[in-house]
This record gives sequence, structure tokens and C-alpha cells, in this order.
Amino acid sequence: MDTEHFDTDVAIVGGGPVGTLLAILLGKQGKRVTLVERWTKAYGRPRAVTYDHEIARILATLGINSDNDTAINYHDELYYLKNAQGENLQIVDWDSISASGWRVRYWFNQPDLEKRLSGILETLPLVTQLRGWQGMALDQDANGVTLSLQRNPDEVGPHGERQTLRAKFVVGADGANSMVRECLGIDNEDKGYFFDWLILDMIPHAPYDAKPSQWQLCDPKRPTTIVPAGPGRRRWEFMVLPGESVEEIQAPENAWKLMEPWGLTPENAELERSAVYRFQARWAKVWHKGRCALAGDAAHLMPPFAGEGMCAGMRDAFALGWRLNAILEGKLGMEALESYTTERIEHAKYYINFSQELGKIICIADEKEAAARDAKMKAELAARNNEPVVSDVCQLGAGAWCPDSAHAGELSVQGVVEANGKRDRFDQAVGCGWVLIGMDTDPQAALTCAQLEQFKQLEGLAVRMGAAGTACDVVDAEGTYARWLKDMDARYVLLRPDFYVAITANSPAQLQARFDRIMSTLRLQSVPALVAA
Ligand SMILES: Cc1cc2nc3c(=O)[nH]c(=O)nc-3n(C[C@H](O)[C@H](O)[C@H](O)COP(=O)(O)OP(=O)(O)OC[C@H]3O[C@@H](n4cnc5c(N)ncnc54)[C@H](O)[C@@H]3O)c2cc1C
Repeated sequence: MDTEHFDTDVAIVGGGPVGTLLAILLGKQGKRVTLVERWTKAYGRPRAVTYDHEIARILATLGINSDNDTAINYHDELYYLKNAQGENLQIVDWDSISASGWRVRYWFNQPDLEKRLSGILETLPLVTQLRGWQGMALDQDANGVTLSLQRNPDEVGPHGERQTLRAKFVVGADGANSMVRECLGIDNEDKGYFFDWLILDMIPHAPYDAKPSQWQLCDPKRPTTIVPAGPGRRRWEFMVLPGESVEEIQAPENAWKLMEPWGLTPENAELERSAVYRFQARWAKVWHKGRCALAGDAAHLMPPFAGEGMCAGMRDAFALGWRLNAILEGKLGMEALESYTTERIEHAKYYINFSQELGKIICIADEKEAAARDAKMKAELAARNNEPVVSDVCQLGAGAWCPDSAHAGELSVQGVVEANGKRDRFDQAVGCGWVLIGMDTDPQAALTCAQLEQFKQLEGLAVRMGAAGTACDVVDAEGTYARWLKDMDARYVLLRPDFYVAITANSPAQLQARFDRIMSTLRLQSVPALVAA
């Protein structure tokens, strides 16, 4: 019986995009959350400018529709890597609708997106925001965590107030220099990779018609990234060359000099920000210890060449959100956090390695090396008939999914369906959570009575999917699910609350065996054990 007084269910240290998203996901499910953020005012400096389809899918669950939100836009175009002569070295398909039902890429200004998230956070009565407070230390025992806080001395001077908070769980979403990571004594695996790049954020006075809109100039004289940066903005990133001074290159007069060839001047544009960032590649070796966990930049850093750093952090928040909600409701055991670490580390590492490989192609300042790269990449592209490459499908590390199921551990496909009087993407028309789909069959009939009870405990959603005119609950309006399940030779698919595939199966017996394995990995609690964690 839980008699101890807790000030909050989850204390989150760090109110960046990752901490804020996690606070929303917990607060919306009725958990008491305390969000501790060092600064009283939002960090107004642009950093991330792009996110992928999976993040669009996550944001849609909060009511942010990336296709028609004024803070977000998209460019239905391919993405190019070009050499100094303007020849294509690589073409990436950023022009399509992804398998998860959203455009491959969206563009935004990070402070605007953070404002949208904060706006949602403020509507949640169970979330307390401690702004101007910083986490200083933590001490955990079997039942909870005591977090020591101090008023940020940079805002109020050295003799600031102090307080402690007793929480059931603490999450460190406190960025690259994470105090939570330090206190937990977790080391980083550091790839020792760093390059300095100058980031210029521009607000052209009139619409800037860039063709192509999103590309990478692999010119050894000055490797440069040219991309959109959300409505009304553009971003240029210039590699700082060996021997150049960081202070000199980021001075506004130099920034304007670099912009001259691109047609932007103080007369027709505003220079919103000129800053040098050091790109690093590393990850924390463990992402949870006892009742504490890490998420976002606190857990991993990657160079932004793939536009995936914040995306990885948002995935962490989503993966942690459903686990913490269920643990706090007494549905899952604390062991569910183990699969958070094992699944998310491998996934983030994939993007760290990918970003690093991209960097190796892009950050070449030597003419001879660049010529060899160009010859190799042009030949490879020609051998592919200039076909764009599609974004990779990345699998989770081992965890709460069955590796012997086709496509398990991958992000699920999402199609347009008709249900509940709506025609929309599945998540919006039907809902999210634990979803068991049966193709032309009632999936509940394939579970045992005990499994049905367990599924009910998880508030699972069973869906009999079928074509229009057949006996079904949800109409597969464009045949997406019929194709997907046929490709996997499956009749059943179990989706997790983070949209990843837990199980696919082609018979009730296979479904039952695999279902038991997932529930045991997550330590689904038996019904009488449903008491607050
Ligand atoms: C130049 C650049 C371009 C990028 N482009 C992209 C991109 O296009 N796409 C993409 O996905 N990612 C991109 N990223 C990465 C992205 O910006 C980060 O991954 C993201 O901001 C991380 O979010 P976070 O919430 O984990 O950490 P942060 O945004 O760093 O937030 C951490 C918060 O914790 C607070 N904090 C720290 N310590 C304490 C403490 N002790 N107590 C209380 N509060 C504390 C800080 O004040 C801060 O508000 C880019 C990064 C850079 C630098």
C-alpha cells in the first residue's frame, strides 16, 4: 500500500521540446507532472528547422496538424547533394507521402514549435511549471526520487531560494550538459566527432524563391547547407574551414558577406541569428537507472545533417510517455523501462551513425578528396538511373516486440480509413494506443480469454479492418492495410502506443504465443495488482 506523500508523479528537468512533450503526454493522461526549467523565458534561438513524418504523426495526437498549421510548412520536392559544379551526387525522396501517412519532411522554426507545445501544456491542470528553477542534485530509493532545486543564480543572483521535490519518477530532459545524467553517474559513448558550422537564420522581406528549395552544396571551398526554416524563414549553414576564427566568421558583417552570392542583403532580409555550433556525436550508455530516465539531448547528440536530433528526442518522450503512464497506473511493471533503454539507444545510434556518415561526405574541404567523392557518387547515382533514395526504415533495439514477426520493431504503416463517421488517417479516425488489427477478421476472437482481459487492461482497441461493403468496423479506404498485411503474410498486427509494430501473425495460435511474450517483457500486472506504482 502506497502511503508516502509525493509532491508529484513525475518531475521533468528541462523544458525544451522533449521535456515539454513528455509533460503533455503525462499531463493529458491525468498524471501530476512538475516541469523544472532553468530559465523563466523561452530559449528564443532557432536550432532545429526540420522534422520527419514520425514526428508529424506524434504531433497530430496533440492536435497539431503539420499539413495546415501556420507555424509549419513543407516543400514537396526532392533533396539534393550537389558538387561545386552543380552536378547531382545524391537525390533523396523528400517529395512523397511516407508509409506512416505524413509527408517525409516538414519545416519549422524551433521557438515557434516550442510555443505551440507550451500553449498546450498550459491547458493541463495537473502540470506545474517551475520556471527559473534548476535541478541541482537527486537522490533515489526504492519508492521515489528526491530532487533538489535552486533558483537559477543567473537570474536571481548567487543566494537563491532552494526547495526539494519528492517524485515517483524523475526524467532528465535537460540537454547536452545534463545534470540528471551526471547525478546518475552515466557515462557517454563519445564518437569524438566534431565540426564547427556557422548557422545563419534569415528572414527575407519577400518570399525567397529558391530552386531547389532544400539542398546541400558539397563544395570543398565551403560546404554549405541551404534549406527552408519554416514559414517566412530560410537557413544557411556554412562549414567553418580549418584555420578560420569562430569569432570572426560569426560576426554580422561576415555573415552578410557569405549571403551575398545568395542574393540576400541588409536591404532585403533580416539576419535573425548568426552563431557557430560544434557538431558532436555521442550517446549515454544507459538511459534509465531505477526511477530516473534520460531523454533528448541529455541522452544523445548528433550532427544535424539528417535533421534528426530533436526527432530522436521527441521519439524518446513518446516511448517514455506510454511506459510511465502505464507504470503509474499500475498496469506495467518498472521493468517496462528496460525496453525503453534497449530499444531507443539502438534507434538513436542508427541516426547518429547515419548523420556522421553524411557529415563525412559533406565536410570535405580538400579538393582532391572531394573530386574522388564526386566521381564515386556520380557513378553510383548513374548506376541507379538517377532514382532518388527513399528514407530508411529503422528498427528499434531489442525490447517489447517480437523479432520473429515480419516488420515488428518498425514504425507502422498508416493509411486513410473510414470509421466513426470520418474519413481520415487511422490515428485521427480511430485512435491510438494498443491497437490490434485483424484483416477481414475479428482479432478479439483470436485471443484467449485471459489475453482479452489483459488487452482490456491496456485499454486496447480491437479493429476488424476490411474493404468497403464488407463486415468490418473500419474501412481500409485506400487498400493500404490490405497491401501491407499481404506483404507481411499476416492477418493480425498489434501496434503499440508509440505506433511501432509489436507483433504480426498469420494465425490465432501465432498471435497468442507472441502476445504472451510481449506482455511478459512489459511485466503486465495481473488485474488484482492494479494499484498505483
Ligand atoms: C544548429 C542546429 C540545428 C539543428 N537542426 C535540427 C533539425 O533540423 N532537426 C532536428 O530534429 N534537430 C535539430 N537539431 C537538434 C535539436 O535542436 C535538439 O536535439 C533539441 O533542441 C533537443 O531538445 P531537448 O529538449 O532534448 O534539449 P534542449 O532543447 O537543449 O532543452 C533542454 C532544456 O533543459 C534546461 N536545463 C538544462 N539544465 C537544467 C537544469 N539543471 N535544471 C533545469 N533546467 C535545465 C535548459 O535550459 C533547456 O531549456 C539542431 C541542433 C542545432 C544545434
